[in-house]
Amino acid sequence: MYFIFEIAFSSNKSYIAELIRAYATQEQIVVEVLQTTDKIVMTFNKDDEKLEKFLLGIDSVLPASLFLGKGKHYFSDEKPKLMPVAKSNLPVNIAPCPTCQKEMFDVSSRRYYYPFTSCNHCGSQHPFLSKYPYERANTTMKFLMPCTDCTEEAKNNALRIDYPLISCIECGISIRMLDKESEHLALNKGDFRKLFEVSARAIAAGKKVLMKTAHGYRRFFKPTVAYSPATSTLLMADSSGFNSHLMMVIQEFNALLSIERPLLRVATKSDEIKVLYGSSVLVKYPDDGMTMLLAREVINTGLEYIAYETCDKDVDADFLVDFDMPLNSQKDTKIFINQDTKLFVSGERILFPAQVQSNKDRVTVAHDLACVKVDDKSIIDSLEVFDAVSTEELYMLEGEDFEGGHAREHSFEQYKASMMSVLAEHHKVGQKAIGVHFDGTLNFLYYNGKQVINAVPAIPFESDNLWEKIRTLREGSDRLVENYKKLYPEIWERLDNLEGDMDIFEVTAITLGLEDESFEGISAEALSFLGKGGLQIDTRVKDNRFDNYAFLTSIMSYQLGDVENNFMCYSIYESFGDYIGEIVPQLIKKVNTRTVVLTGETFANQSLYGRIQRTLGQYSPLMNKNFPIGKENAVHGALYL
Ligand SMILES: [Zn+2]
Ligand SMILES: [Zn+2]
Repeated sequence: MYFIFEIAFSSNKSYIAELIRAYATQEQIVVEVLQTTDKIVMTFNKDDEKLEKFLLGIDSVLPASLFLGKGKHYFSDEKPKLMPVAKSNLPVNIAPCPTCQKEMFDVSSRRYYYPFTSCNHCGSQHPFLSKYPYERANTTMKFLMPCTDCTEEAKNNALRIDYPLISCIECGISIRMLDKESEHLALNKGDFRKLFEVSARAIAAGKKVLMKTAHGYRRFFKPTVAYSPATSTLLMADSSGFNSHLMMVIQEFNALLSIERPLLRVATKSDEIKVLYGSSVLVKYPDDGMTMLLAREVINTGLEYIAYETCDKDVDADFLVDFDMPLNSQKDTKIFINQDTKLFVSGERILFPAQVQSNKDRVTVAHDLACVKVDDKSIIDSLEVFDAVSTEELYMLEGEDFEGGHAREHSFEQYKASMMSVLAEHHKVGQKAIGVHFDGTLNFLYYNGKQVINAVPAIPFESDNLWEKIRTLREGSDRLVENYKKLYPEIWERLDNLEGDMDIFEVTAITLGLEDESFEGISAEALSFLGKGGLQIDTRVKDNRFDNYAFLTSIMSYQLGDVENNFMCYSIYESFGDYIGEIVPQLIKKVNTRTVVLTGETFANQSLYGRIQRTLGQYSPLMNKNFPIGKENAVHGALYL
């Protein structure tokens, strides 16, 4: 008789299953750990006397994860028959696990306030990787010799068996703090702690501290009305601050605290944050050792939050906290949450490197990422960690800045690869499908089982001579232009002098006078609207295609009617949702399929996503699960072109 414990796990990443295996080794219990495409299954001998202790202990060892879902257990006479996913040994780039965190704050450990504390299953590993295969000799840690304690530990500590990046204060990376006059090197536990303490106090006193982290240089500061740039990220030092300052649902709260520590844009709640950031803000919970230790000391100064900007080493700051180890930082990953759906919007961290299935002799390149075969395994990672390889063919995203020089070089469009990535993730390659790719511009696609065709391409938008185009749109439009000029002379003037190649969202943001003149700005504004929709924004005139000028005209007439900006921004996305909801069923009827694929970052918007669920919900539209929905899925999708 077996005792079976299953936990839902919606990713192909293996660090959680590996951590369970390591913990079982540590507890000397016999368990089979299997990972399938959607769960981790542990099979125990029912009568094992260590079972109870193991199950009690695992709660404090396993981190919260974006990918973990509900657990269940049952007894069975037979072992479950399952198809396991391929195991991979790829460097992760997430926060420290609970055990490693405990060590960092335990004054008796060799890693008290040591920011590079990590194990086989956690921490900032990828930033140290220079090339594959992932072993110490191929990381920037190769210059440091592990001390005797670390060498011993790599043989005995179940969580760090053969850990390539093993190090401690004794043998690891030394950090130093510099101001304009002096330099302090941290040599022992006391120094390490002191360094973070001094940094936190400086920030609390209004100073700027530039710090090298696993994710590149960050300039930390206490946000004030005088200085809180919209591009900065709010760093919650104390998780109890989340609910008093931000408007979040439980899924958002859990995601921010997960070991993956993604970036998430959320609506603001407290007056003090509203004054600093307006209606919404990009939020982060400490995601690497440096940031985490700083945050702990920030709490000790009495602050609940600070902020940071991602920047270069040479920006101005009062203090610099630095170390000499060269690092390869990854683009941070933004997620989007709507009820129980989590989408990766953009970025590299958390999702890459990724191991994928491919039986083609093909290298793909897109957005500085490449899919390359290493020891017969296809790995997607940053271009710079791969050596030159020989390949039969090279597929490269159009406009990609990469000298391939291959005889069989193919260029491909973003939307094609994005759609194929989704179809591949859902095992639908070779079957007819309708696609919508919405990334600033809106395209309706058709996949005939062989190739992706742009069925209703976006109508190009030209922002020059804008007023002339609006004036002649339809009867009465000239009156609107005159009224607009009287009421909003400054905006009128700006729109009269636009550069030619701006996208419709930029122009809309200018029209509405938003601070962030981009698609992000409109999206952020929409987030603060909490009412129900209902405003119809005109999206088309001729032959049912989206008409940019009709769209702008409609917005302007609502503006003249004193409609609030956040209501308008919300309605913009809702109207796009309605438009997509009308076109897709027409295409479905024409080509006889019920498979609908959605790609593009614009879908990561609450009002649009909600509307799409309503209009296209009956088709259960497919989106990426293991890759970002917009750009970075292309390197994967190109394997199927
Ligand atoms: Zn760990
Ligand atoms: Zn050591």
